[in-house]
Amino acid sequence: MDTIDLRSDTVTWPTPAMREAMANAPVGDDVYGEDPTINQLEAEAAAMLGKEAGLFVTSGTMGNLTAVLTHCGRGHEMILGNQAHIFRSEVGSAAAYGGVQPFTIPVQPDGTLDLGDIRAAIRSENEHFPRTRLICLENTQGSTGGMPLTAEYTAQVGDIAREHGLKLHIDGARIFNAAAALHVPARDLAAPADSLSFCLSKGLCAPVGSVLVGSHEFIAEARRTRKSLGGGLRQAGILAAAGLIALREMTQRLGEDHANACALAEGLATIPYIHIDPTRVCTNMVLFTFADELPISIEELVTRLKRDYNIVIGGYSNGRTQVRLVTHYWITRDHVNQVIDAMRTLLP
Ligand SMILES: *Cc1c(COP(=O)(O)O)cnc(C)c1O
Repeated sequence: MDTIDLRSDTVTWPTPAMREAMANAPVGDDVYGEDPTINQLEAEAAAMLGKEAGLFVTSGTMGNLTAVLTHCGRGHEMILGNQAHIFRSEVGSAAAYGGVQPFTIPVQPDGTLDLGDIRAAIRSENEHFPRTRLICLENTQGSTGGMPLTAEYTAQVGDIAREHGLKLHIDGARIFNAAAALHVPARDLAAPADSLSFCLSKGLCAPVGSVLVGSHEFIAEARRTRKSLGGGLRQAGILAAAGLIALREMTQRLGEDHANACALAEGLATIPYIHIDPTRVCTNMVLFTFADELPISIEELVTRLKRDYNIVIGGYSNGRTQVRLVTHYWITRDHVNQVIDAMRTLLP
């Protein structure tokens, strides 16, 4: 990459091996189920997550929306975190296209939803009430800086869902980061879920795509939902070829990104004006705030980082001074040291 871009792991370019695999991928018409590369990707993804079947979709948003629309009907309710990506950052799509009502509960500082809050949100049978159909978890939880949810916690939520005849969907955009951080196979984290969607195009570097996994029956329905959203694909094995490398190889190296995030957090902690707790960094995200008495404005800092050091940062929002830096394949330890040095120079 031509910059040190820490805004997100979505900025990752495909690797040279991916570009080569894409050029040579066997393809077919996937709406006929005839694209061998997509079929391979869906099968391998399902196996890695311990599910029966998979469905290649264009984005994490489409994976989540396809899942919600497949699990729920109009007027049904889904319980999810008030910081959940599905609630905050997917354009209200479940409401817009499915008439699905969100019932939000607070996301705890460790990324979990309180089990008591989940239980309290489940509707009883009453003519006035909507029907609860779905619980959604997010692993890793982006808003808390990429906190991984453990298999034990997820199993407890799965138990609640089953007790009440509900479905459990995991927005596992970064499920392999969670698996790497917790040193468990991703399938352990997915086991209690009826469906899980993960992104190939974030830290795994593929240019496009997510995979939704679940039972044969669920995925057969989800294929229909995806088609209705305009997501029926043709010779998209070109994209799935990169996805296969993402799945086989890039999932195995995420620990490097996590180690770089830790090193970045520890370095930033030594700089005045930066408030950060490095012990909260579990995966590839570093959250920190600037002190109010910053010697230059944040805008000026961002401009000078780009102009003088080729470093791109973003993520501060709501007039607050919180910043999120994300490490990924294209960020090396040397880049991390350059970022720490640049910050130290600009914030003496
Ligand atoms: C990025 C992300 C998504 C959506 O993925 P897109 O491919 O950007 O649509 C969903 N959930 C979480 C937690 C994400 O970080």
